[in-house]
Amino acid sequence: MSVQGACYVCSNRALHTCDSCGGTVCDDHYDASSGFCVRCRGGRKFE
Ligand SMILES: [Zn+2]
Ligand SMILES: [Zn+2]
Repeated sequence: MSVQGACYVCSNRALHTCDSCGGTVCDDHYDASSGFCVRCRGGRKFE
């Protein structure tokens, strides 16, 4: 799966798409085990 664009958290190159919110995220902000970005995985931590 290829993703175009930038990570919405840190603006590095996005490599994944969150299964929950559909946001594009880089490796650092993606949890491969859940398929979620850090925000969805961690609840409201970034809101
Ligand atoms: Zn990032
Ligand atoms: Zn998400």
